[in-house]
Amino acid sequence: MYDVTIVGGGPAGAIAAHRAAKAGLSVLVLEKAKYPRDKPCGGGVSQKALSVIGKIDKELVERELFGARIFLSDHRNFTEILDDRIAITTMRRNLDHWLIKRAEAAGAVVRDCEGVTDLHVSKDYAEVVTSGNRYRSRIVIGSDGVNSTVARKSGIRKRWDDGIGICLEAEVELGETLVEECVGTEIAEFYFVGDWGYGWVFPKSDRISIGVGGWKTEIHEPKRFFERFAGDVSRQKGIDIKSRIRRVNSYRIPAGGFDRRIVGDRVLLAGDAAGFVDPFLGEGMYYAMKSGEIAADTVVDAARDDRFSEEYLQRYVMRCEEEFNYDLRSALKFANVVYGHQNLFLKILERDRRLFREYLRVVRGDRTYTDFNRWCIMRSPVTLARLVI
Ligand SMILES: Cc1cc2nc3c(=O)[nH]c(=O)nc-3n(C[C@H](O)[C@H](O)[C@H](O)COP(=O)(O)OP(=O)(O)OC[C@H]3O[C@@H](n4cnc5c(N)ncnc54)[C@H](O)[C@@H]3O)c2cc1C
Repeated sequence: MYDVTIVGGGPAGAIAAHRAAKAGLSVLVLEKAKYPRDKPCGGGVSQKALSVIGKIDKELVERELFGARIFLSDHRNFTEILDDRIAITTMRRNLDHWLIKRAEAAGAVVRDCEGVTDLHVSKDYAEVVTSGNRYRSRIVIGSDGVNSTVARKSGIRKRWDDGIGICLEAEVELGETLVEECVGTEIAEFYFVGDWGYGWVFPKSDRISIGVGGWKTEIHEPKRFFERFAGDVSRQKGIDIKSRIRRVNSYRIPAGGFDRRIVGDRVLLAGDAAGFVDPFLGEGMYYAMKSGEIAADTVVDAARDDRFSEEYLQRYVMRCEEEFNYDLRSALKFANVVYGHQNLFLKILERDRRLFREYLRVVRGDRTYTDFNRWCIMRSPVTLARLVI
């Protein structure tokens, strides 16, 4: 019997496995796909996410981002750049593989091509079922993404009730020179094209990630929405991006900031499985990794105390609340205000560059949304004056 079975070896699972193995627990990771595997993602890793990872292999860094360019619906745009690095871009295939290998080196047993199909929790252990095997452990971390089997089979959540988004993304090979002409080397682009979401272009070494995302209820024909966006970007750049797209990946994304159950007896959910994603920006990797880290610490405590009840595991809920989940609620408030008054918000951002810079500091991790919301209220007379002038 293992101390902990981690279902799903993405960023949440890999960070949890590394930390729990380093703390001396026996750890089993079960991953449905075969490594290295792709995950639909822009591959933007914020500075705050990098601080959870710690030292990272330089080879994983495709580009370093210091700023953002915002496009308005009439194609006008404005840019802000910070002195400090805000994020890097990476290929998820490489990052996730590197993270899981690091966990393996720390002692975790990793089995890929082993998807979990069922889960039984008894008084003395939790048992997960895969196509060919059954594994018992004292506790299970469900880090199996937005379509979490662990959430469903444990009865923690049968389906998502609210706050579900959808994103479509493509990696387009352009070659280094065209990438630099298209976006530049140190900037991510954001296009506010729909009412409740945005499009992005992120530079990688020899390709770009281009995508759109928004609330599922607001995007009625996602594929056409994406195609229109890719066509617009092609025209705007004078580069035929659209015809170079080989494959478009579509994936759900759970917006954070909602009240959701994330623990049961002998089970914890982390990352997308728990719904931990910034509801404004769609950033999920930081929250996946941070919750994976907290899940591992909680499991270490639970193993020491030999207590695995839902009641005991409330300490995980509380720590997530303190570390980032309260702030995700502030992010949701921010998202509702901004997407409800998008044109006004963009006008403000264009005229009040200090506000734009402070928001970039939120993405970097220097400020929380809670802080930022308060700061925006205090600053509103200045912002208003700039708008009027
Ligand atoms: C198009 C798109 C673009 C995005 N861009 C960004 C971005 O630029 N930056 C950012 O920070 N976030 C981004 N996100 C969000 C980010 O991708 C997720 O929040 C993040 O991957 C969550 O990590 P995770 O470990 O919780 O889940 P995942 O990365 O989804 O990993 C879950 C793992 O579990 C495995 N699995 C699933 N079911 C089972 C099963 N039954 N048994 C075993 N294994 C299973 C999967 O194969 C997968 O490896 C984006 C999301 C989308 C959809």
